[in-house]
Amino acid sequence: MRHFAVVGSGPAGFYTTEALAKAYGDQARIDILDRYPVPYGLIRFGVAPDHQSLKAVSKRYDKVAETAGVGFIGNVCVGADVSVDELLEHYDAVILAIGAPHDRKLGIPGEDLPGVIGSAEFVGWYNGHPDFADLDPPLDGTHAAVIGNGNVALDVARILSKTRAEFEGSDIVGHALEALDRSAIRTISLLGRRGPHQIAMTPKELGELGHLEAALPLVDLGDFPPVEADQGLEPGQRKSVTILREFNNIRANKPKSMVFDFFAKPLSIEGDGRAEHLIVERTELDEKGGARGTGETYEVPASLIVSCIGYSTPPIAGVPYDDRGGKFLNDKGRIAERLYAVGWARRGPTGTIGTNRPDGYEVAEAIAAAMPADVDGGRIGGEGLKRLLGTRGVKATDFADWRRIEAAEEAAARAGSPREKMVRIDEWLHTLGH
Ligand code: NAP
Repeated sequence: MRHFAVVGSGPAGFYTTEALAKAYGDQARIDILDRYPVPYGLIRFGVAPDHQSLKAVSKRYDKVAETAGVGFIGNVCVGADVSVDELLEHYDAVILAIGAPHDRKLGIPGEDLPGVIGSAEFVGWYNGHPDFADLDPPLDGTHAAVIGNGNVALDVARILSKTRAEFEGSDIVGHALEALDRSAIRTISLLGRRGPHQIAMTPKELGELGHLEAALPLVDLGDFPPVEADQGLEPGQRKSVTILREFNNIRANKPKSMVFDFFAKPLSIEGDGRAEHLIVERTELDEKGGARGTGETYEVPASLIVSCIGYSTPPIAGVPYDDRGGKFLNDKGRIAERLYAVGWARRGPTGTIGTNRPDGYEVAEAIAAAMPADVDGGRIGGEGLKRLLGTRGVKATDFADWRRIEAAEEAAARAGSPREKMVRIDEWLHTLGH
């Protein structure tokens, strides 16, 4: 019998578990660990609440969790409650699937002013992440700025601009819905340090901006290269750029605007005790396609600034870490003897949910090649881990607890606001009588 610990219950963790369960059949026990009492990581806390179709993938993960030999151990923080070395004592292999939940820093003066928020915090706040329930982002000003030209920037700008009615059918958490409903924000600047051809926004997500009830996307065609130059783009990117250009043809009067400000590199954030505006430098493309400052600067007013410039994986004591890449040092997922990384913890924060499937399968195959199913590794897996956690007073949750929490959330939703969820760990644990 083999014992595996998959640390993290987001897409990467579940695809890896699925692949290990297929490779080993009844010859392995696989425990999925998570620092929260309930699973799904990015699906629960990262995917936008108005993108329910993307969240539907959790149904597939439910099936994985119900597979014989697969267990869930929640409310356990690896690196704090238990070390990686201790996990390696109990399991044949440990697979780190902890994602990249930390915001990359802008590294500019003023970024610590109140009103400047990283996308992990802001997205966590509207998704009911327990760490960010009390974020209380300032929505009292008329101007907001979103830094970055990726899909997360699009998510944040769209959520800031939507009306209450547009959240119908979403699972946005109640506190965020109420706050956004009262928001005074009317202008959202999307700051890209490079140009329209360099955006990292996908066509479907970008296209949604053209159909918002209260907000109009605005572009300045002067920022674009001649339309013929679009022919040189990869088809998906060409589609995105075409959608951007077409925003210029929308004729409508809407109370809010979403201004695409290209070639705009934030230099600093200023304000009297809180963010009031950014100082931005106009850029141009250099020979390698990077952003080169022109020396021309201007002010962009914003009392809420959300930086959506990418994420990093938190280091764990004793695990080799790539500071530049913000992920674990690894070779095709292998970090060290019996220790692996998958998903964003392996590759860095790029790709869609589906990218994690081949990634997880590849690592599971490497494990299966290194550890034959018919050899007993002599370890006791979850039994030993649970005993150890018990001695430390860690109140781990299991599959049944997770189901009870979900049932409690659904009951709360039926009884009160249709979108209310539990947002604090203590509420979850209270439900279990812990
Ligand atoms: P991303 O796609 O890497 O975009 C990051 C953006 O931040 C880029 O425009 C980048 O510009 C900019 N940036 C980086 N450092 C900067 C700095 N110091 N100053 C100004 N701008 C800076 O990352 P993401 O938006 O966080 O998304 C992460 C991954 O999740 C992506 O693969 C994304 O497609 C995926 N995702 C998908 C969906 C969806 O499918 N619906 C939703 C959300 C996220 P440069 O290009 O100049 O570096």
